[in-house]
Amino acid sequence: MSKKGILMVISGFSGSGKGTIVRNMMEKYDNYALSISMTTREPRQGERDGIEYFFVTKEKFEQTIEEDGLIEYANYCGNYYGTPRAYVEEQLNAGRDVILEIEIQGALKVKKRFPESLLVFVTPPNAKELKKRLIGRGTETPEVIEQRLSRAYEESEGVEAYDYIVVNDDLMTCVEEIHFLVEAARRAPLRREALIQQIRKELKEFAKGAE
Ligand code: 5GP
Repeated sequence: MSKKGILMVISGFSGSGKGTIVRNMMEKYDNYALSISMTTREPRQGERDGIEYFFVTKEKFEQTIEEDGLIEYANYCGNYYGTPRAYVEEQLNAGRDVILEIEIQGALKVKKRFPESLLVFVTPPNAKELKKRLIGRGTETPEVIEQRLSRAYEESEGVEAYDYIVVNDDLMTCVEEIHFLVEAARRAPLRREALIQQIRKELKEFAKGAE
């Protein structure tokens, strides 16, 4: 049987740079598949349907929830965001490591449903830097920036639920660190059950006197 991939969640405050990190992980390594989320938010300039997100109506989103077509979903600053189930399952079964770039409520749901998933939280070195990056991005109005900063404060309360926290000071260092965490997770006993069972069985035979 082929090995299942690792389901990895990458979260971070809006403006933490997690989108850029994920793009670089996809370019640098070939073991990752990126899940494209469904959202009811309006596309930003330059965003394309089916590339950054599947942009859908509230009705379509709610219908997908009812059909159990999402692994998780959440409401973030007034819009729905969710992870389509089919692609994730298909890729994991094909042995690829799947990245979900999602916010904290969704991340906690994923952990509950898939305890073996790996939750990584990305943060800038400090809050001042976060605000600077949000303003510098130039894609949000001042009201939305305020909303996202206050959401970041709320999210900071839940960070302890993650498996790892990575500081995004230098982009490529951060990318390598996250890749390293995935490689480490592959070696956790939880994912080495078959190997452990095999060795245990062999040791039992020895204990019984086998040569
Ligand atoms: P943005 O509007 O900036 O693209 O995304 C807002 C937040 O929603 C980000 O924190 C992003 O990671 C999160 N997000 C994107 N897709 C999903 C998803 O499928 N599920 C959940 N729970 N959050 C998502």
